[in-house]
Amino acid sequence: MLHFFDAAVIGGGVVGSAIARELSRYELSIAVLEENPDVVCEASGRNSAVVHGGFAYDRGSLKARFCVEGNRMMDELSTQLGFRFIRCGKVLVGNTDEDLRQLERTMAQGFDNGATGLELIDGKRLHELVPAVNGSFAMLSSSSGIMDPFLFTINLAENAAENGARYFLSHKVISIARKDGRYLIHTAEDDFSVRWLFNAAGKGAKDISDMLGITGYRVIGSKGNYLVLDKRLGPLLPMPVYPVPSNTYMGIHVTPTVDGNVTVGPDAINTDDFGYYGVPADRMEYLRESASTLWPHIDRKDVIRTFSGILAKWVDDKGVIQDFRIEVRDDIAPGAVNLIGIESPGLTAAVPMARYAISLLRDRFDLEERKDFDPVHATAKRFAEMTSEEKAAAIAGDSRYGSLVCSCEEVTEAEVIRAIHNPLGVHTMTGIKYRTRAMMGGCQAGFCQMKIEQLLEKELGIAPEDVRYLRDSSWVLAGKMREG
Ligand SMILES: Cc1cc2nc3c(=O)[nH]c(=O)nc-3n(C[C@H](O)[C@H](O)[C@H](O)COP(=O)(O)OP(=O)(O)OC[C@H]3O[C@@H](n4cnc5c(N)ncnc54)[C@H](O)[C@@H]3O)c2cc1C
Repeated sequence: MLHFFDAAVIGGGVVGSAIARELSRYELSIAVLEENPDVVCEASGRNSAVVHGGFAYDRGSLKARFCVEGNRMMDELSTQLGFRFIRCGKVLVGNTDEDLRQLERTMAQGFDNGATGLELIDGKRLHELVPAVNGSFAMLSSSSGIMDPFLFTINLAENAAENGARYFLSHKVISIARKDGRYLIHTAEDDFSVRWLFNAAGKGAKDISDMLGITGYRVIGSKGNYLVLDKRLGPLLPMPVYPVPSNTYMGIHVTPTVDGNVTVGPDAINTDDFGYYGVPADRMEYLRESASTLWPHIDRKDVIRTFSGILAKWVDDKGVIQDFRIEVRDDIAPGAVNLIGIESPGLTAAVPMARYAISLLRDRFDLEERKDFDPVHATAKRFAEMTSEEKAAAIAGDSRYGSLVCSCEEVTEAEVIRAIHNPLGVHTMTGIKYRTRAMMGGCQAGFCQMKIEQLLEKELGIAPEDVRYLRDSSWVLAGKMREG
């Protein structure tokens, strides 16, 4: 089937979702084309979830500019979109004279970038802030924070959909042709004819760029592995603790999550394989040992899960990592905004980056602003966060609040069913997980996975074999073991 839209956004990660949401401020028909059955299956859901301060990036770079801007916007975005953001600060911990000089250089760069809340603190203050940390002094960035990367991305996307953007999930872009002043985008499912397009395909951005005829980019993968620690440890870590960074790598850090867990990582392993997220046992041990030099509480028995993410870094011929590239090549692909090398701090920077990408189009074409754009995405309070009175009222209003699906994270049937009927039409198990936190607790889905699978069957009227875990190819059940 051939669809006609004014604009297409290729990629539904945090950057594509931010572009779709910001683009839905204009009188345009918008299609978002995403290869996966959900918007947060790749880098955007596989990271440290730190809202960076903006000191770690080269002076004058887009990374620095959008990081500082994104950091400033995060309180407002969190209120409008209803995802959790905690401006808890973070420390970069040092011990030697060389560490001190590097922290002073980092701080000076931060000031030049417009980062705020930076100060050098002594060991006494450091230990008041993070009691058990190993370090003699630190750089404190009090404007840094932590956020929920899943709901940030999902709620940007849902807000875009509420404002009229249409989501085409499981639509992998395979080729792009230019015909009569429009782009003809061929996907595995349908075809799309659009006037403008945004390439926000993350790890796939180089391929899309090649399809547009903008060739020559070299993009390498850098894989970061993580451990997730039990919530028992959350109260012991009030803010992220980093080592002193090098010029290109922030180092293995320990980070509290907004839900009370702690993540340990990432390492940085070069890879060409953007599809393999397994975490080898030796990396798990390496992460534990490295991070224990910073923070001594990391015990094997507290590791409840591992995960990894892969950064798509644009490098030059010599392998030197480059800035974000956001361009319109009028000579080759007019009306196509091309985003390459959107690595860290892409989460922090997503919304200002999206606005900049759209400004490149506005410089060339008249886009009319809509009067009825609504930046607010309504969200319901989680049952786990309600007071006893609120819980009683919720159950009285809807008895499904009285039925717990995930007891580790206290997620109710009412919440799972609301998540199943999400505005994007996502129907995977991880779609429910990322929207509700069911399956994310200490037992890691041991008790609730099958309940969620059955609710998906019941609510959608589908067969057990049609339920998928994360991707279209990840079946949960293959068939019956015995009849009856
Ligand atoms: C280990 C790690 C740690 C990080 N830590 C932080 C941090 O603490 N703070 C921070 O600010 N940033 C951090 N980042 C960076 C941040 O996560 C990324 O910059 C950001 O998520 C990139 O978003 P994206 O939308 O460009 O990419 P993605 O999330 O990868 O989304 C791209 C989407 O495009 C889709 N796609 C690809 N090809 C096609 C195609 N042909 N057709 C249709 N769809 C396609 C993919 O399926 C994917 O959903 C980290 C990243 C990693 C990997």
